[in-house]
Amino acid sequence: MAVFEKIQADNYEQIVFCQDQKTGLKAIIALHNTALGPATGGCRMWNYRNEEEALTDVLRLSKGMTYKNSISNLALGGGKSIIIGDASQKTPELLKRFGEFVETLKGRYITAKDVGIDSNDLKTIKSRTSHILGIAGEANSSGDPSPVTAWGVYNGMLACAESAFGSKSLKGLHVALQGLGAVNYGLLKYLAQEGARVSACDINPDSVEKAKKEFGITTVGPEEIYDTACDIFSPGALGAIINPQTIPRLKCKVVAGAANNQLATEKDGEELLKRGILYAPDFAINAGGVINIAHERDGYSREKAYAHVARIYDTIKNILEASKADHLPTNVVANRIAENRVREAERARH
Ligand code: NAD
Repeated sequence: MAVFEKIQADNYEQIVFCQDQKTGLKAIIALHNTALGPATGGCRMWNYRNEEEALTDVLRLSKGMTYKNSISNLALGGGKSIIIGDASQKTPELLKRFGEFVETLKGRYITAKDVGIDSNDLKTIKSRTSHILGIAGEANSSGDPSPVTAWGVYNGMLACAESAFGSKSLKGLHVALQGLGAVNYGLLKYLAQEGARVSACDINPDSVEKAKKEFGITTVGPEEIYDTACDIFSPGALGAIINPQTIPRLKCKVVAGAANNQLATEKDGEELLKRGILYAPDFAINAGGVINIAHERDGYSREKAYAHVARIYDTIKNILEASKADHLPTNVVANRIAENRVREAERARH
């Protein structure tokens, strides 16, 4: 498909193709929408099979950031960048050149970390641009996003529990966690503190052992997790795990977790609604990390950032209430809220 055809369909503002022969840099910066503020989203370095795959990924990711930043009430638009190549082959020169391209956008795009880019890489990029957030270990940095993402998911879960079980508490509820990585490990602490019963799985036996020892949870196999009778199923590993094959297996009242792109297609949200399963839209419940780094722009305060992230409870509550009132799937409602906010900002801009 021609590039303009692709970017017109979802109304992308600007796509910047960056190349530098000397360093071998091939990158794409996608600014999906800047009505709410600078297009903000991390930089991913990935060995894409071809340029089409790279473009598709950066378009999808940047649009996703418009929705995530909007639903979180941030003064940030949606953007993302990708560097084509094997992350193990990156050089400081290549990263600096990338930083120079970010700088040419004069703050219309703000970069951060994503897959294949670590905090040291961000420091190198920062030597060429000031439009960068989330460098762990630096002064004013918001640090590792995983614990604060877990805090957001926990608060979103409270809103789900209140709606599905009548109490803003997870005490005594059975939560099935898919994945015991950085975010879910943090989430496990909140669940344990509150007295939830947890069953969990991971493909990494060390993570399973660690969580079992520390929290005394029940563990199940990675495939068994879908069949586990529970109150809340919490995806925290992979995308597209809510699909026509898994939905009939779910024995829960709520799906609420950290993973990105949980629904294989938007239609799966409708199927969950039909089955009376309440779904917390992923981009709303897992936005703790981006809310956290947004606070770096005003001088980072952990207390203020965590209080802001706790408002994910309100975001999810509003989505659930509108879904009930309008008999619409929660993913459709969340998209609508995010789009309306962008549209209002666009109107104000013109
Ligand atoms: P992570 O890599 O630390 O953890 C993922 C865990 O899932 C790993 O322990 C891995 O072994 C496990 N896993 C992989 N395949 C599995 C399978 N089939 N069954 C069970 N477990 C499996 O990643 P993370 O940072 O904890 O992120 C988890 C999810 O949340 C991802 O989808 C990520 O995109 C999303 N997310 C993370 C953040 C963040 O701040 N880290 C923010 C927003 C969204």
